[in-house]
Amino acid sequence: MHPLREQARNLRQRGKSYHEIETRLGIGRSTLAYMLRDIQLTEVQKARLDRRQRRNQIHFGESQRRFWNKTSGRSDNPKQAARREIMRQRRLAYCHARTGAELETFKSKMRAAAARRYKPHNPIQPPRTLDQATYRMCLRQAPLLGYHPNWNYVISRGNGYVAVKCPDHPRCTPRGYVPVHRLVLECKLKRPLLSKEVTHHLNGKPDDNRADNVTNTNPSEHAKAHARPCLMNQLVCSFCGKSFTRPKRRKIPLSGNVFDTQSCVARFYNLGRIGRPSPRRLPPEEKRRRKAAYVRRWRQRRREALDKSTTTC
Ligand SMILES: [Zn+2]
Ligand SMILES: [Zn+2]
Repeated sequence: MHPLREQARNLRQRGKSYHEIETRLGIGRSTLAYMLRDIQLTEVQKARLDRRQRRNQIHFGESQRRFWNKTSGRSDNPKQAARREIMRQRRLAYCHARTGAELETFKSKMRAAAARRYKPHNPIQPPRTLDQATYRMCLRQAPLLGYHPNWNYVISRGNGYVAVKCPDHPRCTPRGYVPVHRLVLECKLKRPLLSKEVTHHLNGKPDDNRADNVTNTNPSEHAKAHARPCLMNQLVCSFCGKSFTRPKRRKIPLSGNVFDTQSCVARFYNLGRIGRPSPRRLPPEEKRRRKAAYVRRWRQRRREALDKSTTTC
């Protein structure tokens, strides 16, 4: 018998795995499997190989399953059981500290989050939020605009909008996605949209991207379209008594004084000149007339004073 072959048989009889023999002797595992097919291993040796195999088998699903419900691969070693219990307690404490929830709730939450994150999409059909007519129109129109959306990669954003992979679009995100509503509008208008042009969903649903549901607006019009109606207060001016309206969000002060105009505020609190226009703004003849009247009044008063002093003396 070939010496290498003899060595291989020896090693196998001592319970070594094909991998161990391969690394030691340099014979391929398929060759070994053929050469050593008649050697039977004892139960102890088989258990050892099993353990080795399980130790090396760590892939995502398996490890996750083992992490959450430790049922497989358990030994009856009391020391290990105690360690398991400690780890379980620690996990519980961690879950509780982090979410305030018990382990079961935490688990279901984690599963729900994972399901949300890895929601599989149908690679052939466009998502249900796109109707067939819109989809077909975009398929026809988008190439005419110089780019082609890859409808295999349609994602739903967390904010309710839907984006499509379209890496040759001039305004795609760094990852190559373009919001579907913008693409639909571009296809409808048959021209690329400017960045200052805003697409508005008429029925308010951000994932309803039918061609007749999207319109082109500017930011100001769009803000108006989305503005909630302002609640108004019907009030009466504390100075002039006129009634006026004012947004409810503007607080009424503790004094209860409300004014319709700023001039009412000034006159109520006696600020500035009151009810008298600035003399500088008077026309010159009016200014002259007032000065003459003042002089006349001054002279009159002086004459009266002189008369009084002469009578008393
Ligand atoms: Zn809008
Ligand atoms: Zn007023």
